[in-house]
Amino acid sequence: MRDATFACPDLTTFTRLDELGLVVVGQQLEPDRAVLACRVVEADRWCRRCGCEGAPRDTVTRRLAHEPFGWRPTTLEVRLRRYRCTGCAHVWRQDASAAAEPRSKLSRGALAWALHALVVGHLSVARVAEALAVSWHTANDAVLAEGHRVLIDDPHRFDGVTVIGVDEHVWRHTRHGDKYVTVVIDLTPIRDGTGPARLLDMVPGRSKQAFKTWLAARPQSFRDGLGVVAMDGFAGFKTATTEELPDATAVMDPFHVARLAGDALDRCRRRVQQDLHGHRGMKGDPLYQVRRTLHTGADLLTGRQRARIAALFADEDHVAVEISWGVYQAVIAAYRHPDRATGHTMMTKVIASVSRGVPTGLT
Ligand SMILES: [Zn+2]
Repeated sequence: MRDATFACPDLTTFTRLDELGLVVVGQQLEPDRAVLACRVVEADRWCRRCGCEGAPRDTVTRRLAHEPFGWRPTTLEVRLRRYRCTGCAHVWRQDASAAAEPRSKLSRGALAWALHALVVGHLSVARVAEALAVSWHTANDAVLAEGHRVLIDDPHRFDGVTVIGVDEHVWRHTRHGDKYVTVVIDLTPIRDGTGPARLLDMVPGRSKQAFKTWLAARPQSFRDGLGVVAMDGFAGFKTATTEELPDATAVMDPFHVARLAGDALDRCRRRVQQDLHGHRGMKGDPLYQVRRTLHTGADLLTGRQRARIAALFADEDHVAVEISWGVYQAVIAAYRHPDRATGHTMMTKVIASVSRGVPTGLT
């Protein structure tokens, strides 16, 4: 372990509330939520109208959702002092704008967390709302506004972008069908190893046309600079890329490749199940019992899980499942390898071995 200097444990810095101008003065921990009592550090006691000193009058409490720690929703109860001016009788409350936008129900930390969770972590708005312990509409409005603010604040966001990722999210399930949003992220920092992915844009809809129109509306210099477009399995994005950017390479991003490999493994398991037993997998069927364990990385299996899988593969009838499990494991191991060059070599081997010959019934 690295030789590190430890500071005293401190809830304010741990929850990053110092960055929001707050200090934690109390905590209330329950199994499903945490409430932190906070105060604003800066006093703010000079009248904005006449410059006289204000006399403390009383306090008001403002509730803010903060980012969850350990997946437990964390709510802030911020006590704000109210002052009355000794000169002009004007009344004001302590400025908390470093902690949250005026009238916002989410702290600035919660906004940043929500946007990242949605765009990079692939969480749904519903899941974000649950983690923040706010309503769906509150989370949705806040994320949209924050995405807009982050984008508009940075007019140079398209500069130097050479790798983008495009992905569709179900924005909302409605009775009339699902609503989609197409999210465009800058993956250049990931490719260069210089930082995390960055949100570039959000376009309503999932159609090929939405992405094509977006690409067409970008300046020529931006389109010329794009070398790689990573995308999920939706074919429309690929056609849009080929039509608008003939020189760019369209690739599938690691998240989706791993998911496709996992889906292929499931399809194979279901088919073998059907062939052997003539019915869908149910409780008691060995192939059904291991369905989740098969998706666990081989290096993360417990001794018991390992033995279960070994017993399954000892049966000659399950050889097809064993082979597709091997391919799936090789794919996730390649993507998870910390060294990108080694990961790439591993992936090349997987692709070569699969293309040399896949046993019948595996595709
Ligand atoms: Zn005054």
